[in-house]
Amino acid sequence: MPDQPPLAALVTGGSRGIGRAIAVALGRAGFHVAVNYHLSREAAERVVSEVQAAGKHQAIRALAVQADISQRSDRERLVDQTVAAFGGIDLLVNNAGVAPTERVDLLEMSEESYDRVLGTNLRGTVFLTQLVAQRMLSQEPDSQRSDRCIINIGSVSAFAASVERGQYCISKAGLSMMTQLFAARLAGHGIRVYEIRPGIISTDMTHAVREKYDRLMQEQGIVPLRRWGEPEDIARLVLVLAKGELAYSTGEVINVDGGFHLRRL
Ligand code: NAP
Repeated sequence: MPDQPPLAALVTGGSRGIGRAIAVALGRAGFHVAVNYHLSREAAERVVSEVQAAGKHQAIRALAVQADISQRSDRERLVDQTVAAFGGIDLLVNNAGVAPTERVDLLEMSEESYDRVLGTNLRGTVFLTQLVAQRMLSQEPDSQRSDRCIINIGSVSAFAASVERGQYCISKAGLSMMTQLFAARLAGHGIRVYEIRPGIISTDMTHAVREKYDRLMQEQGIVPLRRWGEPEDIARLVLVLAKGELAYSTGEVINVDGGFHLRRL
């Protein structure tokens, strides 16, 4: 991005996995990056160092911000700290997410687990996006920053029913409509909104089911490209979207799943 100040990105859940890869890739591409985390302070601080190292030739700044996105006051503090550090927010990557702590049949799913998963993956994400969108609009009059964008990290679970983690599927299906809603609402202000829909990605979240997914890939070929996805597969697409390479598209869902979504006969 020559001839303009670095754009400012906020990546939720940037301390580990997919969010970490996104944060580092954005630093390398010349964005200032706020790395949000919930519990993993040391990991988040390591990511901040990685972002700074990746962006050192462009004087990129990065900071770690602790905030539980399911909590309103934390969301407000997260946005305030990011704006205070960078003067605004040009890119929001809604990546933070949780899976149920244990897989339980739909008929036994508890309200507590439902509230925990929906509270982070959907309610927290919706209201953080609302807050950031308000900030983006308030930056509008004197802003040279015309290239603003919101990217939601969804999941193939938006359409693939897993009856042992129904709350997760419901949260990601809801996130998909949330993308449509914010895309429709913000298009008139030039803010593009996308959903990236990862398939099976190698992170802490999938660590416990590694063998099960290995088997499904090898024996049933559920991933046509026949490999696990890596966090960097997602980060590369975030850069494409964030740099405005799909500038005449908004509200799109883009699968990064090795072909998992293909119906085959
Ligand atoms: P991960 O390795 O478990 O990392 C989750 C990240 O989210 C961590 O940085 C964690 O912060 C943060 N987080 C969790 N709850 C939070 C909260 N309440 N407030 C703020 N941050 C919170 O997960 P991942 O696999 O990278 O997943 C990232 C996103 O991709 C999620 O939305 C997930 O649903 C989605 N996804 C993953 C896969 C996959 O196969 N891995 C597939 C499809 C979609 P702390 O480290 O501080 O706890």
